Amino acid sequence: MIEESWGQVRNELLKSVGKNNFASWIEPLKLDTLENGIARFEVPTKFMRDWVSRNFAEQIRQHLTRVGAEVERVEFHVPTQRDAAPAKAEAKPNRASRNAPRAGDDAELPGAPLDARFTFDSFVVGKPNELAHAAARRVAEGGPVTFNPLFLYGGVGLGKTHLMHAVAHELQTRQPDLRVLYLSAEQFMYRFVQALREKEIMGFKEMFRSVDVLMVDDVQFIAGKESTQEEFFHTFNALVDQNKQIIISADRAPGEIKDLEERIKSRLQCGLVVDLHPTDYELRLGILQQKAEQYRGQYPALKLANGVLEFLAHRITTNVRVLEGALTRLFAFASLVGREITLDLAQDCLADILRASDRKVTIEEIQRKVAEHYNIRLSDMIGPKRVRTIARPRQVAMYLAKTLTTRSLPEIGRRFGGRDHTTIMHGIRKVEELKTTDSQLSEDLNMLRRLLEG
Ligand code: ADP
Ligand code: MG
Repeated sequence: MIEESWGQVRNELLKSVGKNNFASWIEPLKLDTLENGIARFEVPTKFMRDWVSRNFAEQIRQHLTRVGAEVERVEFHVPTQRDAAPAKAEAKPNRASRNAPRAGDDAELPGAPLDARFTFDSFVVGKPNELAHAAARRVAEGGPVTFNPLFLYGGVGLGKTHLMHAVAHELQTRQPDLRVLYLSAEQFMYRFVQALREKEIMGFKEMFRSVDVLMVDDVQFIAGKESTQEEFFHTFNALVDQNKQIIISADRAPGEIKDLEERIKSRLQCGLVVDLHPTDYELRLGILQQKAEQYRGQYPALKLANGVLEFLAHRITTNVRVLEGALTRLFAFASLVGREITLDLAQDCLADILRASDRKVTIEEIQRKVAEHYNIRLSDMIGPKRVRTIARPRQVAMYLAKTLTTRSLPEIGRRFGGRDHTTIMHGIRKVEELKTTDSQLSEDLNMLRRLLEG
C-alpha cells in the first residue's frame, strides 16, 4: 500500500516539478514509514533534507493525501551511518562534492546533485553549440586556468546545465581530489540566507573559498537580490584571486541581465563569454538519433519507420527538453500498444506538443501582411474608412485572424480599432461567401495563408 501510493505520487510529482527537479530531489527519496498521519522519508544528505523539506514537503503531502493516504506532516531524515550512501552509484545522481579533510564533521560541500546522464558523451555537438562545447571541454581538461570565468548563456533547454554537469563529471573523474562545487544561483542564495540566519557566515565564506572549481547555474536569479549579489561578488573575486576556475551560466549575456550590479556584470565579462544558439534542424535530428539509439536498446522489439525523426526535428523547434519529452512519450506509447512508430502514430500521440510548437501567427502580422499585399496603409486597416478598396482587405484580415489564430471575435474587434464583434462576424461571413465565387480572392487568401504560416 505504501509503495503503491508513493509510486502514484511520484508520477504526479514528475509532472508538477519537472524532469530535472524530479531527478535531483524526488527520485533519491525513500519512503520509510507512513503512519499516524506522518510520512517519513530517508534522504541521502543534510543539504538535501533541508532543501526538499523547504521546497517540496507541502506538494508531497498534498499528493499523498490526494491518493488517499491521510498525511498531516512530512518528515525527512538522513540515515546515521553515512557510508550507506554510495558515492558513485549509476542510478542515483552523483554529488558534486568531495569530503574535505579540513572542515570538521559536516565537511560535505553543499552542492546540488549531478545528473548522471549529463556527460560529454551524451552531448550532441552542432553548429549552434560548438563553441560552448569546446570551451567546456577545455575547462574540463583541468589544466591551467586560461579564461575566468567561463560564462555560458542561452535560452532555456539549450544545454547549459548539461554542459556544466559534464564538466563536473569529467573533472571529478580525472582528478578525484579536486573540490568541484556545482549549484544553482538559487541554492547559493538559499545557503547564504541560511548561513545568515544561523550565524554561520564565516563557515559559509570559508567553505565557498575552499573550492577548486565553482559552478553557478542560472545566475540571472540573483538579479535584484542585493545582499546575495554582494556575497557572490566577494566569493567570485576571492576565487579568481586564487586562480580557481569559475563557470557561470545565465539565460542571457552578462550585460543584459537587469538589476545586476555593474561591477558584477563587468567581472562576468572578464573571462570567456559564449552563447548557445537556438538549435538548428541538424542538431535536433542528431539529438533525436542519439536518443532513439538508446531507446532501441531499451525496447528492442520496437520498429521505427523512416522519416519520423526528421518529421519531429522539423516540427518541434522550441527546445531540446520538449524534443526529448516527445521522443520518450512516443517510445513509451508505441511499446504499450505494441505498434511500429510511424508518422501517423507520432502525429496522434504527440498532437498536443505539435500543436503547441506550431508557429503562432499574430493579428498584427496578419494586418501588416494583408496591408502590404493590397497596398493600403496599416492605419487604414484599423481606421474607419469604408471605401471598398480598404474595407475588403480589412475583411480579409479579419477572416484570416479568425482562421489562423485562436482569438475570439471581441478580441479581434479590439485589434481592429475597437470594432464590435458583430462587425467582425459580418466581415468574416462576407469573405467566406465571396471566396467561393471570386477566384482572385480565393487565390489571395491562399497566398496570404502560406506567407503567414510559412
Ligand atoms: P538549460 O540548462 O540550457 O536550460 P539543459 O542543460 O537542462 O538546458 O538541457 C535540457 C535537456 O536537453 C537536457 O535533458 C539535456 O540533456 C538535453 N540537451 C540539450 N542540449 C543537448 C545536446 N546538445 N545534446 C544532447 N542533449 C541535449
Ligand atoms: Mg539549466
